[in-house]
Amino acid sequence: MGLALVHGRARAGVRAPAVKVEVHLGGGLPSMSIVGLPEAAVREAKDRVRAAIQCAQFEFPARRITVNLAPADLPKGGGRFDLPIALGILAASGQLPQDALREYEFIGELGLTGELRPVDGVLPAALAAAQAGRRLVVAEGNGAEAALAAGLEAYTARTLLEVCALLTGRKPLPAAVAPPHQPADGPDLRDVRGQAQARRALEIAAAGGHHLLLVGPPGCGKTLLASRLPGLLPEADEAAALETAAIASVSGRGLDPTRWRTRPFRAPHHTASAVALAGGGSEPRPGEISLAHNGVLFLDELPEWDRRALEVLREPLESGVVTISRAARQSEFPARFQLVAAMNPCPCGWAGDASGRCRCHGEAIARYRARISGPLLDRIDLHVEVPRLPPAELRPDAPEGESSAVVRTRVTAAHARQQARGGRLNAHLSQAQTMADCRLAARDQALLERAVEALRLSARAMHRILRVARTVADLDSSDAIATAHLTEALGYRQADHGAGQQAA
Ligand SMILES: [Zn+2]
Repeated sequence: MGLALVHGRARAGVRAPAVKVEVHLGGGLPSMSIVGLPEAAVREAKDRVRAAIQCAQFEFPARRITVNLAPADLPKGGGRFDLPIALGILAASGQLPQDALREYEFIGELGLTGELRPVDGVLPAALAAAQAGRRLVVAEGNGAEAALAAGLEAYTARTLLEVCALLTGRKPLPAAVAPPHQPADGPDLRDVRGQAQARRALEIAAAGGHHLLLVGPPGCGKTLLASRLPGLLPEADEAAALETAAIASVSGRGLDPTRWRTRPFRAPHHTASAVALAGGGSEPRPGEISLAHNGVLFLDELPEWDRRALEVLREPLESGVVTISRAARQSEFPARFQLVAAMNPCPCGWAGDASGRCRCHGEAIARYRARISGPLLDRIDLHVEVPRLPPAELRPDAPEGESSAVVRTRVTAAHARQQARGGRLNAHLSQAQTMADCRLAARDQALLERAVEALRLSARAMHRILRVARTVADLDSSDAIATAHLTEALGYRQADHGAGQQAA
């Protein structure tokens, strides 16, 4: 007696490393010290734990209490250790049986009256507890999230007293229940009139995981199109969906446990900072690019963005991961998003429009376009112009477009072809895989080389064209890349270039 051990979990990026909460009661003047928590957090935790124990009609031991949270080098902010600390004190002072604690992990903040409060980052903790083969007790408000972890026995409690009743065998706790999953009900492609070329580009983007740039005047429907992309993608598999849900869980914005399988669509404003995009903070939290993991990141008004903010996209666009360094600590967050960017063709927005209303100088247009960094533009596979629609196509009786469900069927088939061939989407093929899987006939190879020369494209851009051509062929259920597939892929590189030349 005098010593107790309780299992908790820290929040570190999207991981939830195990933390052992050791409580020791010793002789000497009554006091309480917590080792391994930051100073401010210690003060608050002491007050809450003491009040909660007394409110639950237990005795707060009048001894020297030492609480140690091990290992020492993990981030341990927030109140998530209140519950394990309180249970440790009760067990060390003989008010709870020690043995009962062994099978469980506990996460939750205590209110002064002993109620158990939800904390963030419960999903990663639940997944880790399932792996460790222990049961998990959380606050009622965290139950739905904990229940998403397959194979986990998770229970919810409203108060410290209820947890104690479980451990003394007086009253079991209710099992955590996952809420029914809401089917995705995002906007449908059916609502987009006309825009055949942009719709086609959107389908290719969905089919191969390619990044997309939409160039067109204000009000032509760029946002409308971009917001339809998640609905064209097949539902993410469970592992991928859980990864995305875990990011939302630790983001501090909360996870909706009824929509965890829905692919995210994030559309931050162009005033967003580098930290808002990439993530950060003293205990790093994910940014927009990670919240868009396995879904879509939409950046409207691309030239209005701060270049330094956009700079953070570079690494994740290649690797699917973002690394955040803060003083002593490094956090990695997954960030495999599909980028859809949109911009006007010129400062006034009307360059190339049939009305001829654009009066922008060639120089002004060049300056406007130069605001976007070349390397970023280079990483966007598909560039497409979205013209203003003639009024006839906007009439209410104009024919509806194909629905998202119909397009998704073709996209899903194309995904299956890619998975069977290379085990990944075409956009994520390595250079070696691109060489192997995107072979061209000699005549087409010559065509590609001439185009690369004429457009002054980089080797990186050439590989991207090949991957897009591969996707066009996959949508066509074709094993070989034919000339038509290649020329269509080349067309998505020339679009923006052509507009630029035309404007100049
Ligand atoms: Zn203009």
